[in-house]
Amino acid sequence: MKFYTYDRWVKLNISDDELDELQTDCIVCGGNGYEECNLGHEHECEECDGEGTVGGNVLEVYRQKALSDIAKWCTYTGNLSSQSELVKEFNSKFEALSYSKDANYI
Ligand SMILES: [Zn+2]
Ligand SMILES: [Zn+2]
Repeated sequence: MKFYTYDRWVKLNISDDELDELQTDCIVCGGNGYEECNLGHEHECEECDGEGTVGGNVLEVYRQKALSDIAKWCTYTGNLSSQSELVKEFNSKFEALSYSKDANYI
């Protein structure tokens, strides 16, 4: 069984509208996209790259969907014994992904 890469999965499964809905205000800059430093400058927020929003839940949506796909696939193929292996495999990939993506962002 092959998993879609995260980027590919997002393209296939999440519409732009849904992406917008999953976006939340950046907690670091409060949705402004910039932060004021102690010299009074406005600096682009590094958390959200000046966007003011972050897509905090997309990774979790992806994880839930992938786990349910694994369960479905195992049921469909009558291969229930391999489910825990597949989940383990997915989780290790997901962890690597979370680190590489900084977990919270698209
Ligand atoms: Zn920000
Ligand atoms: Zn400054």
